[in-house]
Amino acid sequence: MLSKQQLSLQTRNSFNINAICPTIYFPSSLTDLQLLTRVITTPFYILGEGSNTLFVEQQAPIIVKPNFLGISVVELAEHYQVTVGAAENWHALVSYCLERGINGLENLALIPGSVGAAPIQNIGAYGVEFADFCQQVEYFDMASASLHCLTAEQCQFAYRNSIFKTSLRNQAIITQVTLVFAKKWRANLSYNGLGHLPQTVTAKEVMQQVIHIRQKKLPDPAVIPNAGSFFKNPIVSSTEFSRIQQLHPTIPNYPQDDQQVKLAAGWLIEQAGLKGYRKKGVGVHEHQALVLVNYASENGADIVALAKYVQQQVLTKFDVLLYPEVRMITAQGEQNFVDLAVNDESK
Ligand SMILES: Cc1cc2nc3c(=O)[nH]c(=O)nc-3n(C[C@H](O)[C@H](O)[C@H](O)COP(=O)(O)OP(=O)(O)OC[C@H]3O[C@@H](n4cnc5c(N)ncnc54)[C@H](O)[C@@H]3O)c2cc1C
Repeated sequence: MLSKQQLSLQTRNSFNINAICPTIYFPSSLTDLQLLTRVITTPFYILGEGSNTLFVEQQAPIIVKPNFLGISVVELAEHYQVTVGAAENWHALVSYCLERGINGLENLALIPGSVGAAPIQNIGAYGVEFADFCQQVEYFDMASASLHCLTAEQCQFAYRNSIFKTSLRNQAIITQVTLVFAKKWRANLSYNGLGHLPQTVTAKEVMQQVIHIRQKKLPDPAVIPNAGSFFKNPIVSSTEFSRIQQLHPTIPNYPQDDQQVKLAAGWLIEQAGLKGYRKKGVGVHEHQALVLVNYASENGADIVALAKYVQQQVLTKFDVLLYPEVRMITAQGEQNFVDLAVNDESK
C-alpha cells in the first residue's frame, strides 16, 4: 500500500494549515484496509479532501486517506443506480451524472470534497441532501477488520449528522456509496435564489444557477482558505424560539417537523456584530458571517480561538450555543470543540 512519512498536509486541507502527519496511508483494496488494522496502533484520522477539517496543532495524527476510485451506472426500468468510490470528487460526480442525463444532484453542485465524506455529515444545500439519493454505504470497520453495508435508513441521516458521526465515529472507512435516481425528474426550486426559475428548467440549468450563486456568495478556499459554514445552524425548541423572537422580532426562522425551529447561524453572528471581524490573521468573512477564513495564519489554534470568541458573543447576545460543523483534529486525533483549550496568547 502506498504510504508516506512526515508529510505536510498544507495542500490537503482547505484552511491551508501546515500540519505534519507522521504517516499517511492510501488504502485502495480490502487487503490494504486489513493491513491498516495491524499497523495502526495510535489514534488516526480519515481524511478526504480536507474541506471540513481543521488541523488544530502543528502535528497531525496518522492519516488514512482512502483511495477507492471508480463510478459505475446500472440502468433499471425506472431508476439509475450509481456506485461511486469514496475518493472520487463530489462535484465531478454531480457533473458526471448530469452529463449522462442522470438528474437529481444539481442542487448539490460545487460542494467541495470527496464522495466518501458526503454521508458523514449528510451534505446538503439548496433544499436537497445526500440522504435523498443514498441507497447504501459500504465501509470497512477498523474494530472488526471487515466490510459492511448500511442502507440509507441504517445510516441514521439527519441535519448534518449520521451514524458515522455517532456510534461509528472515526472507525468506519467508507469505501463506496450507491445512489439511486428516479428517471422521472422534477426540479427542486424551493430554495431562495432558485424560485425564479421556470418549472420547465433543465437539471443542467439548475446546476449552473447553483454554481453561479455559490461562486457569488462563498469565498473560494483556493483564494481565501476556509471550510465553508463553520457552525451548524442551531435548532431550538419552539418555546425557546418564542423567547428569542420577542427580543429579536426580525430573526429568520425555519420551523421543523418536530416542534423545533432552525435558526440561521450566519444571521446570529452578523447580529452579534462580528461580520468582517479580524484578529491574528483569521476572521469572519466580510460577506458571509458563517464562514471563518484564514487570511494569513499558520496556526489552526488561531481559528479555534476565533470560533470560541464567536460562540461566546452569540451566546451572550441570544443565549444560543453554536456548534461547529468543522472537525477539529489534534496530534491525538479528533477532539471535541468544547475540550479544546485556548491559550490567552491566541485569544
Ligand atoms: C467553500 C465550502 C463550501 C461548503 N459548502 C457546503 C455545503 O453547501 N453543504 C455541506 O454539507 N457542506 C459544505 N461544505 C463542507 C464540505 O464540503 C463537506 O463537509 C464535504 O463533505 C467534506 O468533504 P472532504 O472530503 O473534504 O472531507 P474531510 O474534511 O476530509 O473530512 C470530513 C469528515 O469526513 C470524514 N471522512 C472523509 N472521507 C471519509 C471516508 N472515506 N470514510 C470515512 N470518513 C471519511 C473525515 O474523517 C471527517 O470526519 C463546504 C466546504 C467549503 C470549503
